[in-house]
Amino acid sequence: MEEDRSAKFSPSKLDVYKKCPRRYQYRYVDGIARRRKTPETTLGAAVHSAFEELYALVSGGKTPSLAEVTGHFDQAFDEGWDDAVHVKDNRFTKDDWRAVGRDCVERYYCVHAPFTEDRTVAVEKRVGFPLQVEDHEYRIEGFIDRLSLARDGGFEIHDYKTSKSLPSQEDVDADWQLALYELAVRREWPDAAEVRLKWHYVRHGKTLTSVRGAAAREKLRADAAALVARIKRDHAFEPKQGPLCDWCEYKDLCPLFAHPEKIAALAPAERRKDEGVRLVDALTEIEDKRRRVKDELKALDCEKDGLDERIAAWAQAAGVSVVAGVSAQASVNVKEDVHLPTKTQEPEKHAALEADARKSALWGEIARLDAHALTEGVRSRRWSGELLSAAEVLLERYGRRVTARTVRLRRRRGAEEE
Ligand code: SF4
Repeated sequence: MEEDRSAKFSPSKLDVYKKCPRRYQYRYVDGIARRRKTPETTLGAAVHSAFEELYALVSGGKTPSLAEVTGHFDQAFDEGWDDAVHVKDNRFTKDDWRAVGRDCVERYYCVHAPFTEDRTVAVEKRVGFPLQVEDHEYRIEGFIDRLSLARDGGFEIHDYKTSKSLPSQEDVDADWQLALYELAVRREWPDAAEVRLKWHYVRHGKTLTSVRGAAAREKLRADAAALVARIKRDHAFEPKQGPLCDWCEYKDLCPLFAHPEKIAALAPAERRKDEGVRLVDALTEIEDKRRRVKDELKALDCEKDGLDERIAAWAQAAGVSVVAGVSAQASVNVKEDVHLPTKTQEPEKHAALEADARKSALWGEIARLDAHALTEGVRSRRWSGELLSAAEVLLERYGRRVTARTVRLRRRRGAEEE
C-alpha cells in the first residue's frame, strides 16, 4: 500500500493529483523524477527568464532596451534547447519556436514599457502558508513569477503564460494556483486591501484578472484542506485517463498504457509472440463466439415469446390451463403484477418513489443495506473521520476478502488490417 508522506504541497502538485492520482504517485510518492522537456517548456522557461531579468533591472532603476531583453531570451533559449528536448511535431524547427518566444517577449515589452505602471516587490518569490488538515499542519508553497504593488496600493500577483490556448474569464476565476498564492501574500501583508490575480497570456498579448472575495478565499482554503486530506487517505492512487495522458512522462509505467505502448512498438509478427497478446486474442475469439450465440439466443427468445402468447390465447379460448404436446405439456398461468420505476429506466420517478417511501413509516421495513456503497466508500476513502472508521469496522467484522477480476475487451483501431 503506497502512502503520501509529503509535508508540503504546491498548487501544481495538487493539480497533478486532481488530474491523475497515479501520475501523482509516480512523481511525489515513488519519487520517480522525470520531467519531459518539450519545445513548449523550453520556450516557457526562456520567456520567464527574460522577464525575470527585465524586472530585476527595472527594480534596480534601469530600463533595459527591447534588444537587451530579447537578447537575454535568445541566450536562455539556446541554453535550454538541448538533446533532451522531445520534439513531437517535426513541422516546426527550433528557429520557429524561437520566433514564437521572441514574439511573446516583444509584444509584452511594447505594451508595458517603460514598466512604470507598478512597482515590483519581488520576482520568482517563494511564498507559503500553513494549512491545518484534521490533526496535522501542512504547508502550501510555491513561486510567484512576479509580485508588484499597483499605484492604488493593491498587490498584484503576476503569472506569465506562453501556452497556445487562452482560457475564459470563468476559467481564471476558478483557478486555484494564484488564488492559493494570494492566501500566502495576505498572510505576509495582513493589511493588504486588495490583491489582484493577473495572468499574462503573452502569445495573445492578453491579460486576464481575477479578484477573490473573503468567502471565496475561505472556500478555497477548505477545498485545499479537503484535497490534502484525500491525498493522505489515498492508498490506491488510481490512474485517471484523460487528455493529459498523451503528454504523460510515466506512460510506460502506467497500468493503462504500459503493455499497449510496448506492443505498438513491435512488428506485427513479433506482437503475436507476446503471451499477453496471445491471451487477449484468444479472449477476442471467445467473445466473438459468445456474441454470435447471444444473437441466436435473442432470436430464439423472440420466437418463444410469440409461441407463449399463442399458447396462452389458445388455452384461454379452450378454457384449459394445461396444453398437451407429444413429448411435453405446457402449463399456462396468468396473473396481474405491478412494476415499479427502476433507477436506470425511470430515474426521476424512481427518485420520487424513494423520497416518498423514506418519509413513510414503512422505510424501516423495505430499505435494504447497500453493500456496494459500503465497500466502494471504504475503497475510495469517500468519507473521513468517524464515518470512515464506522464503515471500516463493519467491513472488518462482516467482510470476507475475495479477489475479483474483470477483464473488458476494447477493440484496437486498425487491428483488422494486421
Ligand atoms: S498515462 Fe494517464 S492515466 Fe496513466 S499515469 Fe499518466 S496521466 Fe495517469
